Amino acid sequence: MDNCLFCKIIKGEIPSEKVYEDDDFIAFLDINPVTPGHTLVVPKQHSDNVLDTDDEILEKMAKVLKKISHAVCQGLETQSFNLHQNSGKLSGQVVPHLHWHIVPRYEDDGLKIWPGKPYLEGEEKIVAEKIREAL
Ligand code: 5GP
Ligand code: ZN
Repeated sequence: MDNCLFCKIIKGEIPSEKVYEDDDFIAFLDINPVTPGHTLVVPKQHSDNVLDTDDEILEKMAKVLKKISHAVCQGLETQSFNLHQNSGKLSGQVVPHLHWHIVPRYEDDGLKIWPGKPYLEGEEKIVAEKIREAL
């Protein structure tokens, strides 16, 4: 993917503050961190998002995310973090190369995530049925 920002970072054509690398993954600091230590974990094999990623990569990803999340928490002396992934334009995904955000959380960091709102009467069952039918 010649025009992909993260493919360029993986190839070393664009500099990054790398914290981890193995045969399949790279992790580096987000250039515009939500909190200090905000880390992006990226498979080296290009895919746009979760839906077009090989199952094998996704399986390996779980272990790598655990390993790097541990290191982020230990290194930055916190026990809390958000693990976040945007898939698709409406989700807020800006870089169309699969990546996970590890955002370490700190006391009074002021971050508020995902305000929820209750379903309307009867809506919950309809929504759940749509998902069950698609599975
Ligand atoms: P997305 O919104 O696609 O889930 O997240 C993309 C992330 O990539 C953003 O948090 C953004 O700050 C980060 N980012 C964009 N360009 C660069 C870059 O050139 N280098 C690094 N290290 N991070 C970047
Ligand atoms: Zn890419």
